[in-house]
Parts: sequence; structure tokens; C-alpha cells
Amino acid sequence: MTARILDGKAAARQIYDEIAAGVAARLAQGGTRPKLATVVVGDDPASAQYVRMKQKNAKQVGIDSEDHRLPSATTTEQLLELVMKLNDDDGVSGILVQQPPPRHIDMTRVITALDPVKDVDGSHPFNAGLVAMGLSGGVEPCTPAGIVALLERAGISIAGANAVVVGRSNLVGKPTALLLLRRNATVTLCHTRTVDLASHSRNADILVAAAGRANLITRDMVKPGAVVIDVSTNWVDGKQVGDLGPGVDEVAGWLTPNPGGVGPMTRAMLIKNTFEAEVRRRP
Ligand code: NAP
Repeated sequence: MTARILDGKAAARQIYDEIAAGVAARLAQGGTRPKLATVVVGDDPASAQYVRMKQKNAKQVGIDSEDHRLPSATTTEQLLELVMKLNDDDGVSGILVQQPPPRHIDMTRVITALDPVKDVDGSHPFNAGLVAMGLSGGVEPCTPAGIVALLERAGISIAGANAVVVGRSNLVGKPTALLLLRRNATVTLCHTRTVDLASHSRNADILVAAAGRANLITRDMVKPGAVVIDVSTNWVDGKQVGDLGPGVDEVAGWLTPNPGGVGPMTRAMLIKNTFEAEVRRRP
């Protein structure tokens, strides 16, 4: 078997087209243009590159953006000051504080200080709480929402499927499990203390690998025909790879390329959340 490709780039393009149409219709009716504010602390080149791509994606669909670069020595208090200013800025629809920040920044305080309506990353405890309660009306975190959108757009049925998520971070694993649960999958959430990971992964109709460990998921750990979502971004010899070992593509029924699978969907969801944040603020 050779897996069918879950093409994140193509699905993201469709989503951008839909957002662009939504923005154009809104402007035609005299509505406001959404604006994304991005904040980067420090000089990590990867963070700078991710934010550049996000701004480019915003521009493509007619969403304005503004970028705030703060030096590495910025304190949590100084970052909080900027967040408060952006919360109060009526021209800003959504705020993204790029992660990871330098280690001395208390990110929990920063996330909690965001206006939940402008929290387009879906990290604020209010939004996370709505996701945990299975309620709509909040902002869903970008990577989990992107994974679910990718599955749904490919017509993959989630209800009743055995879904196994490897990784339980607040950013990726846990909310992915919750969004799959909300769509009636039977969900198993695995982590470093899971005993015999393979016995769980082999039972997965949908396997989401988000551990950040290259080659963690070997071909014998995958059920033939399973849908495999490779979330992780690992760097091996200067090359981006996920968590999948060689040959998984021969066993899986569906597979996300890496790069080109979950990453483009994550960015598309950020732009979608920004548009929806503006609509929610000013219907
Ligand atoms: P994280 O905070 O480091 O969490 C990793 C999770 O994986 C933890 O829950 C950890 O378990 C679990 N884990 C690690 N090694 C494991 C093992 N050997 N067996 C089972 N579980 C294991 O990372 P994250 O923020 O969730 O991100 C995960 C990966 O996705 C990273 O590579 C990140 O770069 C990537 N990512 C990609 C996108 C995208 O758009 N493509 C977006 C966000 C993140 P414990 O909790 O027990 O430590």
C-alpha cells in the first residue's frame, strides 16, 4: 500500500480563497478590514521566518498586519505592557505572540493577559476551557483546528474512529484530542509515561504524531490503512522531518507530507481565526 497524501498546502489554499472572499464581501458591505498584530521577542531566525510567512498569508487574503519586534532582554512586564496596548487598540483584531519566547518570559502570564477575543492562537485559558467543554463560540488553537480541517476536507470520517494522539502539550496534543473527541472519535492520549506506545498506536484508525521525536513512529507501530498525521517539526542534518520512521508511507492509508501537511494548515487557521475575531468584534 502507498498512502494517499493529505495535502496541507492545497487545503490551505482553499481556506485562503474562502477567507479572501469573506474579507472582500465584508468590505463591500462597508465592514472593517481585519488586522493581525504579531509580536516576536528575541532574534530567533525561525520565529522571524514563521511570522514573516504569517504576515504574507494575511496580506494575500486582504488582512492587514503589523509587526512588533522586541529585543531578547525584554522583560515579561514589558511584553505585558505591549499586549495590553494591543488589547486596547480598536484597530487590532487579533494578537499573535510567537512562541517560543526567550526562556525568562513567563508565557502563562502573557497568554492570560490577552483579550480572549483577540487570542487568535487559541491559547488563552478561556478559549482552551471552551474547547475542553466541547463548546463553540471561542477560538480553537491553530494546529489542532488545522488537523481536523484537513481530515474533514479529505472526507475522512472521524466519528467512531479510534484516534491515538502522541503528545499531550497544551498547544498541540491535548486540544487535538479534545477536538477529535468532540467529533465523536474514541480518543487515546499518549505521552512519555505511556507504557507500550505501539500497543496503542497499532489500534489507531487516526494516528496523530506530535511528540517532536524523529523516527518515534516506526512502520510496525501503524495499523495498515490508518490515517497518519505527522505534526512534528524536527531538524535532522538541516532537514525538516516529523516523527515517522521509514516505510510508514507504505503501511498508512493516508499520510500528511512533512513539510507541506500540518504546517500550512496551522497558518491558514491563524488567518481564519483573525478574520473570525474581527467578525465577532464587529459583526
Ligand atoms: P512539546 O510541548 O515538546 O510536547 C511534546 C509531547 O510529546 C509531550 O506531551 C511529550 O510527553 C510527548 N512525547 C515526547 N517524546 C515522547 C515519546 N518518546 N513517547 C511518547 N510521547 C512523547 O511539543 P509541542 O509544542 O506539542 O509540539 C510537538 C511537535 O509539533 C514539535 O516538533 C513542534 O515543533 C511541532 N509543531 C508543529 C506545528 C505545525 O504547524 N506543524 C505546530 C506546533 C508544533 P510528556 O508530556 O510526557 O513530556
